[in-house]
Amino acid sequence: MNVPFLDLKAQYASLREEIAPALQGVLDNTAFAGGPYVAAFEKNFASYCQAEHAVGVGSGTEALWVALLGLGIGPGDEVITAVNTFIATAEAISFTGATPVFVDVDADSFNIDANLIEAAITDKTKAIIPVHLYGQMADMDPIMDIAKRHNLHVIEDAAQAHGAEYKGKRAGSMGTAGCFSFYPGKNLGAYGEAGAVVTQDAELAAKMRNFRDHGQAKKYHHGMVGWNARMDGFQGAVLDVKLKHLPDWNQARHNHARLYNELFAGVDGVTTPKEMPFTDTHVYHIYPILVAQREALMAFLQEQGIASGIHYPIPLHLQDAYAAMGHKAGDFPVAERLCASQVSLPMFAELTENQIKQVVAAVQQFMD
Ligand SMILES: *Cc1c(COP(=O)(O)O)cnc(C)c1O
Repeated sequence: MNVPFLDLKAQYASLREEIAPALQGVLDNTAFAGGPYVAAFEKNFASYCQAEHAVGVGSGTEALWVALLGLGIGPGDEVITAVNTFIATAEAISFTGATPVFVDVDADSFNIDANLIEAAITDKTKAIIPVHLYGQMADMDPIMDIAKRHNLHVIEDAAQAHGAEYKGKRAGSMGTAGCFSFYPGKNLGAYGEAGAVVTQDAELAAKMRNFRDHGQAKKYHHGMVGWNARMDGFQGAVLDVKLKHLPDWNQARHNHARLYNELFAGVDGVTTPKEMPFTDTHVYHIYPILVAQREALMAFLQEQGIASGIHYPIPLHLQDAYAAMGHKAGDFPVAERLCASQVSLPMFAELTENQIKQVVAAVQQFMD
């Protein structure tokens, strides 16, 4: 039996009856760009995130960019973020004209090490972007405290953390803004590209709404130079259907992670992911393990029909895209170690107990 890394077909099969009429509604109303289906989803998603406002945009990358621009961040500014993340976090900073400043991650949580943030702050720093990697929130209390003392914004990159909780608070609700991706493979995935920014700040929300629609509060009256960053109507309709299932899907992921952990307890040489004491809900976008012989293990799993991935093989400071920053190997040792030994195992709500047992048995066979 093959075990895929993720199975979007299985999820769609369980939703066919709900998705079809939702899409038909968009067609019947020709509500294709922004519009009522996006607005309905925004309202429900804001409430799910314990936030006052949600602004739907075209992707998670765009959500980060729109949030940064909405806060007035641009050329000459610096924004601190984790060095081990998907490159979109840094790209969004770069495309405002600001400069990303990387900080190493914590070896247990895999998220930005709050103890290292203050050393990276300069008089140009305007914001911190903690990334809630793999579905577990970064240690937000010290981050919010540092931000407050230095008068900085906190923008949460919650692209992997829809529904995650830190001391009872939902991802996206704690910072000035929280940015989500609805890329099809995320815990809440669209049927195309989509993203959203959530915030408690009405003024920021209004600014971002205005910006995503060519800076017009009224048609053809452009109060500022904006952009076309609207969410597509079909995506709003699909996401609103899927949002109702997200709590169940996240619970299923959590149960799968628990079973993986239990089964791996008897396997030497495998480090399983830790849930930090401040974590109330880890939503396991990714189930990461650390092993010494990563490439050989992945090849062995592939021979057994088991898919796996790496998130991520190269930390941002060693990417060619950021070579001009002048970093070198050794600058961020924790992230570098993580990138060399991390493997993502199959994880999605519809994964079965047998599939999990098969994955663990294969890893064990490799380790023996
Ligand atoms: C997926 C992802 C993004 C980008 O989202 P897109 O919708 O693909 O643009 C940003 N940050 C992180 C951490 C992600 O995982």
